[in-house]
Amino acid sequence: MSKPILPLWVNGRRIESRSGRLADVTNPATGAVIRQVPLASRADVDSAVAAAKAAFPAWRDTTPLRRSRILNKFRELLETHRPELAQLASEEHGKTLEDAAGSVQRGIEVVEFTVGAPHLLKGEHAENVGRGVDCHSMLQPIGVCAGITPFNFPAMVPMWMFPIAIACGNTFVLKPSEKVPSCSLRMAELFKEAGLPDGVFNVVPGDKEAVDALLSHPDVRAVSFVGSTPVAKYIYETAASHGKRVQALGGAKNHAVVMPDAPLDFTADAIMGAAYGSAGERCMAISTVVAVGDAADALVAKLKARAEKLVIGPGDRKGVDMGPVISAQHRDKIVGYIDSGVQQGAKLVTDGRGIKVAGHEKGFFVGPTLFDNVSTDMTIYKEEIFGPVLIVLRVASLDEAISLVNSNPYANGTAIFTESGGAARRFQNEIEVGMVGINVPIPVPMAFFSFGGWKSSLFGDLHMHGMEGIYFYTRTKAITTRWPEVSDKRISSLVMPTLG
Ligand code: NAD
Repeated sequence: MSKPILPLWVNGRRIESRSGRLADVTNPATGAVIRQVPLASRADVDSAVAAAKAAFPAWRDTTPLRRSRILNKFRELLETHRPELAQLASEEHGKTLEDAAGSVQRGIEVVEFTVGAPHLLKGEHAENVGRGVDCHSMLQPIGVCAGITPFNFPAMVPMWMFPIAIACGNTFVLKPSEKVPSCSLRMAELFKEAGLPDGVFNVVPGDKEAVDALLSHPDVRAVSFVGSTPVAKYIYETAASHGKRVQALGGAKNHAVVMPDAPLDFTADAIMGAAYGSAGERCMAISTVVAVGDAADALVAKLKARAEKLVIGPGDRKGVDMGPVISAQHRDKIVGYIDSGVQQGAKLVTDGRGIKVAGHEKGFFVGPTLFDNVSTDMTIYKEEIFGPVLIVLRVASLDEAISLVNSNPYANGTAIFTESGGAARRFQNEIEVGMVGINVPIPVPMAFFSFGGWKSSLFGDLHMHGMEGIYFYTRTKAITTRWPEVSDKRISSLVMPTLG
């Protein structure tokens, strides 16, 4: 039976793609194709960028207060439709409904932050920078911005981007992951219902063809990306070579350092959620525990006991802790990593391979997996697995733990579990990672702080949301003013003006 085909969203309405190429959107809990998504062509991207370009002058000149009122209405609609968006995210991604609702909420909080646009967009002013001379700066929008997003947060990650760009007076073309396109299309409809003028926000689902069209389009001024590290690097280099401003967030291998004085039940509970929530498909998932001194034995025993109690099943079933992973291909890749861990000599404490969920035999399930005695030369340490696989490395001291974390090329998030203020203070000071938790397992900053990693987890200079998001989507202009009647100083000299 043919499946419904999703539209593109261009200039405030659903339109059909002209590409003739379609991809299946699958429910990972059943393995069934639920709908199809067009893979936008270069011509589709051109029409979306043209709509965004045409909408820009009027939107740029709309006062920040008016923009903020539309964003506030959008926030209200998102709150009302949170269950619907969570259901779409869960259906296409596989995560539990409760987890999906939480991630939608974190996205809504970014919209809430942008409601303060009139305040956030204020520049600086200084009187008398010279005699009779004043200076002020303005934050101005940059034009058409593009966003390219991953499969693992169908609503939240797009909301790290487009509400901020639009609050700043830009227009936007979003290319969501072709695996989870429905939330983005629904959010576009809700934004229109909130009063957003046509063309300000456009959605073009697609693959590499659509991405490449955006990266090289002369009318796209800035590109925001979230996804895996190799693609992030490609996006950064390609978009920058076309003269665009870029922020490209990549993959992760997040370590939790557990000190011998850490309260172990609290720590084990925290690590369970961080490792296995969303089946480990979170950029801030804790995938690696670094157990210091004699913390390891007791901690591993507690993790094993908890992992064995997790309920695995479809994300929309009550009582389920962990849903499937995104695709059959990804499941097989994760299983391949588990095989390699065994072959390379790690101790497999809990094995998630071969799990069957009754009634969902075709779903893409991997059970919670725990490895102990992992070393840094093993593939399961070196690569991002992005699945429900937690590995434990053992070290002798905090020094060794810090040096191990700092030697890893990824640097998105990390956490330390300890009751020692001194150890925590040293850790936060010396660790070379963008987001740090102290007894907090997934330290995702709130919308009014910025989100971003270091090293191979982010290419570019500015993080997402918070003030860094505002700076990314604006250009600063500094204006120096002198009025002849209040300043009698002559300016006929050829010498560099010092104003004073
Ligand atoms: P991905 O890199 O495969 O895809 C991300 C986006 O890029 C998608 O829209 C996809 O269509 C597009 N894309 C894929 N291959 C491309 C190519 N060759 N050329 C151009 N575009 C391409 O990532 P994913 O599998 O969707 O998401 C999982 C990854 O995202 C993980 O590595 C995870 O750590 C990372 N992630 C990072 C963060 C962060 O904040 N750092 C947040 C969420 C996810």
